[in-house]
Amino acid sequence: MTQLTDAYAAIAKSGRMEKTRIPRRETGRFDVRIDIAYTGVCHSDPLQIDGAWGAGIYPMVPGHESTGLVTEVGPEVTKFQVGDRVGIGNYIDSDRTCWFCLNGMEHYCRNLNVTYNGYDKSGEPTYGTYSRSIVVDENYLVRIPGSLDLAAAAPLMCAGITVYSPLRHFNVGPGTKIGIIGLGGLGHLAVKFAHALGAEVTVLSHGTSKKDDAFAFGADDYRNTAEPDTFVERAEYFDIIICTVSAALNFDQLLSLVAFDGTFVNLGAPDGPVSIGMFSLILTRISFTSSAIGSIHETQEMLDFCVKHGITSEIEQIPAEGINDALDSLREHGGSKVRYRYVIDASTI
Ligand code: NAP
Ligand code: ZN
Repeated sequence: MTQLTDAYAAIAKSGRMEKTRIPRRETGRFDVRIDIAYTGVCHSDPLQIDGAWGAGIYPMVPGHESTGLVTEVGPEVTKFQVGDRVGIGNYIDSDRTCWFCLNGMEHYCRNLNVTYNGYDKSGEPTYGTYSRSIVVDENYLVRIPGSLDLAAAAPLMCAGITVYSPLRHFNVGPGTKIGIIGLGGLGHLAVKFAHALGAEVTVLSHGTSKKDDAFAFGADDYRNTAEPDTFVERAEYFDIIICTVSAALNFDQLLSLVAFDGTFVNLGAPDGPVSIGMFSLILTRISFTSSAIGSIHETQEMLDFCVKHGITSEIEQIPAEGINDALDSLREHGGSKVRYRYVIDASTI
């Protein structure tokens, strides 16, 4: 039977988050019912609430990086049991038949069912994890290893996998000179992962306030992108840059930091087109590319990597009544204030 659960929703575009109750479907044959423990506040949340990526579906319950405990399993579930610690990420289903799904890249499925601001297979709107519970097919969950703190593990489910996937895809490792633009939710995990992979890591931040933290996370160097000398001293220096900024930046200036034949991976999702002069690419053969989140398989691999290397996210835990302030902080300061991810204690919803 459908159950109601407490949640926080934006009732309309750009609306304040209000407490409400939402339906969760009955636990189907392959379903897992989860008591949500913690939910990270991703920068994608205010962007979607505010309609920056196109018309949103309201009421909108955001939340796509969470951890929780299994409370019920469907009769044919084999992967999880009641009491298991699980992670919920950006999507809760896919068509399972396309080339992407059949090749372990279901996150690129053209019929992906996203965790919120989308529709499930039955055509009902999906509601995210700013809520007390959720029901998800067992194939779209991961297991959170026992040694990872549930609160600090929540941001790994979006911020973590979004940077881990391209780091692995582009073979970042010993001998790689990598620059990470933006030390926010995604960026701080990129620094930790790239350091653990053995790369030479430089943080490229627009200011100096995060310098000590950058070195603590494993950076070898820290450069201020508001400082013109950075672009002189590090001209054509990096093999790869991972950019995690939401704002439309001066990409030509940033591309000047990448070496011949290097790679610029833009992960940030500004709310409109950006500009790049083609000579930034023509004369350098730089590949300007991007990447979307990661697969369930890669996410599980990332969690094991975190255990092996003692990596977790840096969080500021907040109660549910702090959600609007947290979202405003991301809107007004572009993620520059939070150290380094707001995480909602879902028991306070
Ligand atoms: P965040 O925590 O807000 O961090 C973004 C960082 O960007 C800030 O900490 C800041 O770092 C820097 N920044 C902000 N405004 C800036 C400006 N005007 N100029 C230069 N730098 C600025 O955000 P997040 O949650 O990590 O998300 C980052 C972006 O990735 C968002 O656009 C989000 O939608 C996107 N995203 C993409 C995917 C994907 O699959 N590709 C998945 C998740 C999120 P400094 O203070 O160090 O400069
Ligand atoms: Zn996210």
